[in-house]
Order: sequence, then structure tokens, then C-alpha cells
Amino acid sequence: MSSITLNSVEKWFGNVQVIKGVDLTINEGEFVIFVGPSGCGKSTLLRMIAGLEETSRGQIMIGERDATAEPPSKRGLAMVFQSYALYPHMSVRDNVGFPLKSAGLPKADIDAKVNEAARVLKLDDYMDRRPKDLSGGQRQRVAIGRSIVRDPTAFLFDEPLSNLDAALRVEMRYEIAKLHQTLKSTMIYVTHDQVEAMTLADRIVVLEFGRIAQVGSPRELYEKPANLFVAQFIGSPR
Ligand code: ADP
Ligand code: MG
Repeated sequence: MSSITLNSVEKWFGNVQVIKGVDLTINEGEFVIFVGPSGCGKSTLLRMIAGLEETSRGQIMIGERDATAEPPSKRGLAMVFQSYALYPHMSVRDNVGFPLKSAGLPKADIDAKVNEAARVLKLDDYMDRRPKDLSGGQRQRVAIGRSIVRDPTAFLFDEPLSNLDAALRVEMRYEIAKLHQTLKSTMIYVTHDQVEAMTLADRIVVLEFGRIAQVGSPRELYEKPANLFVAQFIGSPR
């Protein structure tokens, strides 16, 4: 588990600036949600934290370490995308264990880690199935399982539930809340869904055109929106 700090972070694509000087500290074990309308820079910021997008200016700290120039593999973070890329020809067990097998861990260690992930995520009943025989929610859980086994210092989620139907979204939202309680990991979660943000977050970061419009607890944002943009986005009757 680690804190993550962004110091005056900027992102330029050519001469277009999409992240405009973001300062933010995400505390150890905190569940922070990035919200904002489509195109405001949520995914870009998350991808910069993951190291999948270069940081044009500023600094990204993971714990006490300057990670700005580190490749994704060195950062120790788990990224869970909306499109859960599972290996279709592998069982759930092998999908979850794959990162450890690739890393060359002994089989006994892999089994122990995979069983632990299965327990936390309630995957036990379908460990021998292929992804095609799972529901959307189950597949999402397998994808999360695959990231848990590496003991990431933080989890990064980019709209992980947006491919699911409404009922499953509610169920998975609950699962993710439980996962946070169980693992007590730092989690950064991107969504454009206000309800998801309000129910899951310790703190919400509202992004507007690549800048932070406001950071606060769901309650703070609801009761004291910093401006009309936040008020409208959070849905406060102001
Ligand atoms: P969000 O996730 O909030 O919808 P994004 O972070 O995907 O927003 O995008 C923020 C802005 O950056 C958008 O205007 C988008 O078009 C632009 N953008 C994202 N990726 C690239 C890229 N690889 N090249 C150029 N522009 C990009
Ligand atoms: Mg996005």
C-alpha cells in the first residue's frame, strides 16, 4: 500500500494541453474517485499515474519514490480496465495465476495466491470454467483477481463497470466497496457516474477541462460545491 502524490502534473498531446497543472495527494488506503464529463482528462490522468502515458511536466510520487519516469512494470500498480482482457483459452484459475506464472513463481506459491484471490472475490465455484462461460460480472471479478495476486501497492480502475447492465453494476459496486474494506488498498477509480462516485469514494476529485474543479468527500461536494459546474455535476439542488 502506498500514497500517491501528483505535483503540478501536466499532459500535452502535441500542442494541446489536456491536463493543466494537477496537484493532489491520495493517502494510503484511500478510495479516491475521479469524476467529470467525457473528455475532461480522467483516463489520461489515470494512465499517467499507471505510467501508460508519459508525464509532460510535473512529478508523480508513489510513496516516497519519484516514479515520474518509471515504466508501468516498476510502479507496482494494478490497472483494471472496462474491457477485461481475459485469455479465452485458459480457465479462471489459470487466468488469475497467469501474472505469477509469467513472473516464474513456484507452483505452490501461485496456488496459494490464486486461492486467496478466489476466496476474497468469491470465485471458488467457477475456477475451472473458461471466460466465455461466465457472466459479465464474473469476468470482471476474474480480471480483478488477476490484479490482486501481484499484491499491488494501489489499484487503478478506469470505468470498470461501464460494460455491465444496471443490476450488475449495482452488485459490482458493492463488491468493489467490500474489496476495498478487505484489502484496505489505495484505490483510484474513474467514472462519469455520479452515483458510483457518491457511494464508493472517500474523496471525489471533480475534473473540468483538465483541471481539478474541487476535491472533497461526497458530503462536502454535495453540501458545499465550489462552483456551478461541481453543483450541476454532483446534482446538488443549489
Ligand atoms: P476522459 O477519460 O475524461 O473521457 P480522456 O483522458 O480520455 O478523457 O481525454 C482527455 C482529452 O485528451 C480529450 O480531449 C481527448 O480527445 C484527448 N486525448 C486523449 N488521448 C489522446 C491521444 N493519445 N492523442 C491526442 N489526444 C488525446
Ligand atoms: Mg475515459
